[in-house]
Amino acid sequence: MAILFENVTAVTMDPANPIVKNAFVLVDGAQIASVGTKRPAGEFERVVNGAGKVLMPGFVNAHTHVPMTLMRGYGGGCDLHTWLNDYIFPAENKLDGRCVAAGAALGLAEMIASGITCIADMYMHTEAIAQTVLEAGISANLSCGAVYFGDPADFSPEKCGDCGNHIRLYENWHNAGDGQILVDASIHAEYTSSAPAWEWVADFAQKHALRMHVHVSETHSEHEKCIEKYGVTPAQLLDKYGVWQNGGIAAHCVYLSGGDAELFASRGVTAVHNPVSNLKLMSGVAPLFFLRECGMNVALGTDGVASNNSHNIFEEMKVAALTQNCNFGEDHGLLQAADVLAMATVNGARALGRDAGVIAPGKIADLILVDFTHPNLFPCHDVMENLVYSAAPSNVVMNMARGKIIYENGTFLTLDLEKIRAEVGEYALPKIFG
Ligand SMILES: [Zn+2]
Repeated sequence: MAILFENVTAVTMDPANPIVKNAFVLVDGAQIASVGTKRPAGEFERVVNGAGKVLMPGFVNAHTHVPMTLMRGYGGGCDLHTWLNDYIFPAENKLDGRCVAAGAALGLAEMIASGITCIADMYMHTEAIAQTVLEAGISANLSCGAVYFGDPADFSPEKCGDCGNHIRLYENWHNAGDGQILVDASIHAEYTSSAPAWEWVADFAQKHALRMHVHVSETHSEHEKCIEKYGVTPAQLLDKYGVWQNGGIAAHCVYLSGGDAELFASRGVTAVHNPVSNLKLMSGVAPLFFLRECGMNVALGTDGVASNNSHNIFEEMKVAALTQNCNFGEDHGLLQAADVLAMATVNGARALGRDAGVIAPGKIADLILVDFTHPNLFPCHDVMENLVYSAAPSNVVMNMARGKIIYENGTFLTLDLEKIRAEVGEYALPKIFG
């Protein structure tokens, strides 16, 4: 099925030709077929008039826990430790697969309406998330975030439930939907597991050529306690067990030290920056200029909605730029809008092993249309400045995932929002909160 976008301003994220005005972008099947200023020949199933609109790569939310949408705003006003132990962990103990599917559907609806076309998620009951993602139509790297609180001496793959979860998730879902779903190996964090679990997950990743997804040095105390206990940083400790051999995602990276960033760069590990969550939980501000200078790829994520409280990448871009400029701008200069947009698109795609994030022939057609006739985007002296500092999810009028239009002018074409509301309100919330 061929769809032609005509007369549109294309923000391509291709440094050689970043903005093409009056562009024609042809999508054929799941891929972009051509980009240019001349109308391609042929008949098309649909022609979308892009006058007054910007066509850009869909956003990649490179670190999230989508079912946590159920806990939006729960335990607000607490620090990370109190929030987790007194609110989140007790609520999560009551979750089942049906709750997780409902929360995932709600979170995906919010993301689709705000222009997200691909996510990297880490959460329990992961197979329920996989089924929901498959139906929703966006792409996802899914992982279960292994934890192991038992005595390291007692560890066995049979006793660690997340070993079995890794195996089932990989066997049932890796490459599902013709690559729509990829499975990542995953350790929740250094402080929620121990060496035998790290070794098992690292071996599993190597055996199946999987990327890795881990929370790393999110808080100062977590980073320092690891050094106290093991004599090395979380990044270096996990490296000893081969965790980073296939690259992947290190979520947060607020406190890296002693060559961590250089190590990550050499292993092909991406730092996923979650500025709103880090500020809300008082964790700090990751030094993006430093990470980039060390050669790391930097992408953006929302983290779970329970610590955000939305899946809004426009907000993440703006807050990322503002906090970097405020904290580090004097020494490094201002973070440019093009760099922030790259973090939210092409850098995220690279982190997840997706041939997307750029409008160019052969790339996956993950695209969004942003309506620049809305009052908050007019006038427009610089398209990228408006996207980073002025735009909002309500400006997104179309979401195309893998060549298929899944959201248009406020209507969801793959999700039934009323059904999702009912499932969340009548099943999931009473189950968790009584
Ligand atoms: Zn997280």
